[in-house]
Amino acid sequence: MNALKTVRPVEAGDWNMAFLFPDEVAGARARNGLVILPIAPVEWHGPHLAMGCDNLLAHAFARRLAREFQCPYYPPLFVGTERQRRPETLESIGFERDSRIEGMDFPNHSVASAYLREEVFALVVRDTLNILLGRMGFRYVLIVNGHGADNQKDVLNRLCHEFNDPSSGKGQRVKWVYPGFPRSLLAGAIGHACAEETSMLAASWPGCVDLAKLPREGKLRNADFGIVDGDTFDGDPTPDHCLREAQDPRRHTRREWGAQIMEEAALEVIAEVKKDWPELNTLREASVSS
Ligand SMILES: [Zn+2]
Repeated sequence: MNALKTVRPVEAGDWNMAFLFPDEVAGARARNGLVILPIAPVEWHGPHLAMGCDNLLAHAFARRLAREFQCPYYPPLFVGTERQRRPETLESIGFERDSRIEGMDFPNHSVASAYLREEVFALVVRDTLNILLGRMGFRYVLIVNGHGADNQKDVLNRLCHEFNDPSSGKGQRVKWVYPGFPRSLLAGAIGHACAEETSMLAASWPGCVDLAKLPREGKLRNADFGIVDGDTFDGDPTPDHCLREAQDPRRHTRREWGAQIMEEAALEVIAEVKKDWPELNTLREASVSS
């Protein structure tokens, strides 16, 4: 009887550290010292997207970058934070200015999101960075952050500032990027669960999008569906506080477009990372034991 050959994830180009043997992790670390850390919470993303959306995008993006740099990516951390929304944002979305609403947790939604308190989130990310840079001995950590909350970005900026302190003499060791939003799309605020994000999720995890879970016709009220375009977050809502037609996932979801913008963003990040960390330019062929 022929033994079936098992294809390991890394042999298929997936460098998830959970599936690597220690000699492979050590070998990759010696080659260029980079590890990638995908993070984002479980969060409401409309009825049509799986709740892991942000993390699944971060995961797919980390996998793409890790293949490029032939380095491990840490198993995706499902962590993220949010805060009470500002009165002007609440008004723009279509709520009273004094409503108590954190992040995307609107009162009509059937399930809440898994937001950690901001200080807990900061501690978890901080300790993970200490593990990767300290105990595990990597030289660089690239965080792929799938969640765009203001306080999430603040925490990551603060941690980068702390870990990159010039007085440590270790240079820049940590940076963070978004998954799949190329510069061409990042001009204003990023929409939530709109056509772009839906297209990217459909491209990277096809089973995690189901447009049939949305009503076939009619407008989508921001407050009812939690699908909110970037202009509305930026303080420019439609008069009836419904999603703009141009951002409607029912009409504008295209897998090819999602794949294209993710790849465009990946190429931008690869160029940026090689510029910041020139050591990554001298990449030798990885030897994966089979
Ligand atoms: Zn999202």
